[in-house]
Amino acid sequence: MSIAMKRTIDLIVENAALIVPSDQQPVGLQEHAQGPVSIACANGLIVDVSTPADIAARFTAPIIHDASGCILSPGFVNTHTHTFQSLLKGLAKDLRLIDWLNSAIRPSFAKLTEEALYAATLLSCMDAVSSGTTTILDYAYASISPQSMHAVCRAMNELGIRGVLGRGYTEHFHSPVGSFMNLSEKVDTVFGNVLELVQEFEGTPITVFLAPTAIHNISVSGLKATADFSSKHNIPVTMHINETTLDDEYCRNQHNCTCTELLETSGLLDQPFLAVHCVEMSGADIARFARHNVSISNNPVSNLIMGSGIAPVRRMLDAGLNVAFGTDGAGSNDTQNMLDTIRIGTLVQKGFCKDPMALSARQALEIATSNGARAVGLGSVTGSIEAGKAADFVLFDFDGSYAQPIHDPCSALVYQSERDNVAAVFVAGEKIFANGTFMKVDKDAILDDIGRISQAMGSHAAV
Ligand SMILES: [Zn+2]
Repeated sequence: MSIAMKRTIDLIVENAALIVPSDQQPVGLQEHAQGPVSIACANGLIVDVSTPADIAARFTAPIIHDASGCILSPGFVNTHTHTFQSLLKGLAKDLRLIDWLNSAIRPSFAKLTEEALYAATLLSCMDAVSSGTTTILDYAYASISPQSMHAVCRAMNELGIRGVLGRGYTEHFHSPVGSFMNLSEKVDTVFGNVLELVQEFEGTPITVFLAPTAIHNISVSGLKATADFSSKHNIPVTMHINETTLDDEYCRNQHNCTCTELLETSGLLDQPFLAVHCVEMSGADIARFARHNVSISNNPVSNLIMGSGIAPVRRMLDAGLNVAFGTDGAGSNDTQNMLDTIRIGTLVQKGFCKDPMALSARQALEIATSNGARAVGLGSVTGSIEAGKAADFVLFDFDGSYAQPIHDPCSALVYQSERDNVAAVFVAGEKIFANGTFMKVDKDAILDDIGRISQAMGSHAAV
């Protein structure tokens, strides 16, 4: 076939050893066993996935990325973090949840600025991308002003990551100790800000979730208003749920029901709902969430660091729930490294269930990719390597590493990969990171900004 007969597209990634962690996908490990593949991309989407010879015969592109020897995976979806916390690493460690919140997190609110949130978002997202993350949900509850939420979205957009802003809000702010900046907002103010954000970032990879902070920060009328707004504007909801027993204790005292019962009666579970943590889950809680197709963000490293426990991931998967992974903020997890979260999340579930089959490497990759995409409302957009989906993928290079020999790409990715193995990250067909370098932002300048900002904030930890 002559060049003239070829279709000109934007990008060809050729000769990759493909990995697609889903039985439902059109191309799978069977194809990997048969030989390398190439991917054709145009307008930010995957156009075709086939053998290198077939793609070379039918397509031509100004950018051809040689992925020889690399394992290609859908990018990871981090379904829960708080990017502002990258300014707060290491503060007040080794304390219980509420004591840590009061010592490390809440005192920071008064010192945060729009510039600080912008820089912190860039740092958290760079940390995430360098570990293979292409989509991130920032549960932005440090909403110091409506305008600051625009700065967070701008940072994600400038880096090139597919960003989901969880627009955090606190209706009534009360804390057992201390006198911190009051972040309380009326829900109508929040909803107005959400509509502005949706409008400003229309046509970009940035989307928006509603993110009421926690069950004890919002009234029943606030929950119902959130459900109504979600339904009217088709904007999903995410919320911290049952990280510890405190949520149920609060609901029993205040509302004479459990936390998940309150969510159900307020109508929130009738909306697309992403519940974060879900460590303390009864059989009734799991069944209720399953009836409403709730997605779960499992944050295994954060839950271990905070001593909160281990979420019953296997039981929730068996009940039909869509479980995804999240790192949680750098204040509790210290790192946004999704490879860490995938590996530790898989291992603790095997130990928790006393069953090596509780979570396989292949299932772990599904949780980190396609399940994650569904959880953040982007199941039809990203999360797998197939024609029509966004060209969001990661190339892992294990050449010369101790992961050799690689008999099983899934095992290599889950149990052995390090950041150094992340050779390149593409979002919407654009290379945003390769060999330690970010293509669209200046890492050194951002780290300088972070140093200056964190010095100005000072260490406010009580311990
Ligand atoms: Zn959180």
